Amino acid sequence: MEKLPFDQLGLSPEILKAVAKLGFEEASPIQTAVIPVALTGRDVVGQSSTGSGKTAAFAIPVIQRVDSQEKAVQALILCPTRELAVQVAEETGKLAFFRRGLREVPIYGGQSYERQFRALAAGAQIVIGTPGRVLDHLERGTLRPDSLRIVVLDEADRMLDMGFREDIERVLAATPANRQLLFFSATMPRAIQELIGRFSKDPAWIKIDAVARNAPQVEQTYFEVDRRSKLEALTRLIDLHDFRYGIIFCGTKVMVDDLDEHLHARGYGVDRLHGDIPQAGRDRVMRNFRERKFDFLIATDVAARGLDVDDLEVVFNFDLPNDAEDYTHRVGRTGRAGRQGRAFTFVSGQEIYKLQGMVRWAKLDIRRGRIPSLDEVEEARGNAFFERIRATLEARQFKPRDRMIDRLLDQGYASTDICSALIHLLQGGGEPAPQGAAPAKGARPPAAAAPSEPVSKPTPPLPKPAAAPVPKGKSAFERPARTGREAGMATVRLNAGSRHGVTAADIVGKIAGVTRLPASIVGAIDLLEEHALVDVESHHAELIVKKLARVRVKGVSLEPKAEPPAG
Ligand code: ADP
Ligand code: MG
Repeated sequence: MEKLPFDQLGLSPEILKAVAKLGFEEASPIQTAVIPVALTGRDVVGQSSTGSGKTAAFAIPVIQRVDSQEKAVQALILCPTRELAVQVAEETGKLAFFRRGLREVPIYGGQSYERQFRALAAGAQIVIGTPGRVLDHLERGTLRPDSLRIVVLDEADRMLDMGFREDIERVLAATPANRQLLFFSATMPRAIQELIGRFSKDPAWIKIDAVARNAPQVEQTYFEVDRRSKLEALTRLIDLHDFRYGIIFCGTKVMVDDLDEHLHARGYGVDRLHGDIPQAGRDRVMRNFRERKFDFLIATDVAARGLDVDDLEVVFNFDLPNDAEDYTHRVGRTGRAGRQGRAFTFVSGQEIYKLQGMVRWAKLDIRRGRIPSLDEVEEARGNAFFERIRATLEARQFKPRDRMIDRLLDQGYASTDICSALIHLLQGGGEPAPQGAAPAKGARPPAAAAPSEPVSKPTPPLPKPAAAPVPKGKSAFERPARTGREAGMATVRLNAGSRHGVTAADIVGKIAGVTRLPASIVGAIDLLEEHALVDVESHHAELIVKKLARVRVKGVSLEPKAEPPAG
């Protein structure tokens, strides 16, 4: 596949400067093929995989062909979702950075009309929007189509899937007949071809090889697992590979919510994204995910569409995607920018036939894998721990504690035994009960107690509170009932109790998951019918109340309140 330097594509100096500023070294194959043709004014149908650089392939010609002196809308870019519209607007803005007088504006549902009117009235030349809202503005007369010269359909297949066909047809019908049309799609189903046939004149068809669509830089594995074992399989794979950044795809919103609760309960740093979450919440989740404030995003296909994150380590298909296209879309989110990615797909029962069909149809390069045993997970964890100790020793990243060690040596303990005892403590081994009293606290998860990350990890992510595999049956988060408050503990009252089907483990899991504090800071829990009284280490109480303020468990809002100290 041919790639050319940007300066051989006939671009203006302003755009070349912007491209250099973005750090693009050379044009991607789709950009190399599309840009020169689109610059001539000819219609283009461009087809290439997710992550291949389609945005710049259309944004660059759009920017170059728009007249910055003319204060009227000259280019319209339609995108399937608000998120994508915002991203495309951002990338367009960056590419247009050195073109003075050029303005782009994203318009989408959920944003105030006022702001959009103003931007349009101010003479933005490039409008990027979702079909519904664009149609709205056309009908209100606030977006005038007569000056349009270029219309772009980004992710055309997605827009049709999402039911925008009629809106798109009406938008296209409203635009001048001689405007240039640029169609972009990862796939070319018949509905798209019909749309192209109706609205485009002699387009150049540019397709970047399907082989590249197979995401060769992604190592793809599938696992045949029983439906009920998927959660366990997922956590083992995460623990075995020590993944810290990935997306977990589920088939439905309900499954997203469900998995979110379960992973929270097991102490993983996760958050979720689907269509029922209000827009403001979605924005926050996406931002937090980009900033790596949590490790795994659990999402539906639609919600994750267009989410632009570069360095995912892994994509899990917790549920098998509907078809090979969705599979490719999902898997294409990892292994970007030349980095190796991993994709794990779970199939249960008859789904294996569906997967085999997809493999044949799209020539997927996917291998069968075996779910690691608990022993293997433990061993990997042990190896990782060993590496951390070694790295810490090598970097001499520790304070000498010779007085404490000397005292133990003086008492006749061997240095190897002292070390063994420390490792035991660090790996979550229980302490012998002092004065045989209090019931054992929940096992302290090893990751939380492990020493600070070795130097080899440049930005140590927060320790996972409870990455330890939870023993079957009994949860590691089981808590003694509250009898009286221990010293140093404060009580938080939660508006959720046994009547709501909430368990103590749910509560500990939520607290650990949301605050990322180790589960061990939670003490006894009194689970009453309507509410729960939870003892937590007092210096964390405020944070917990704050973080749980908007959290729901089993559908009930927790409404945390700090209880006044007992008299
Ligand atoms: P697509 O729309 O085909 O899924 P995008 O346009 O979203 O892909 O591009 C994916 C990523 O690649 C973006 O982060 C984008 O900034 C980056 N990118 C695009 N073109 C280039 C290039 N020529 N060189 C390096 N990175 C690029
Ligand atoms: Mg795109």
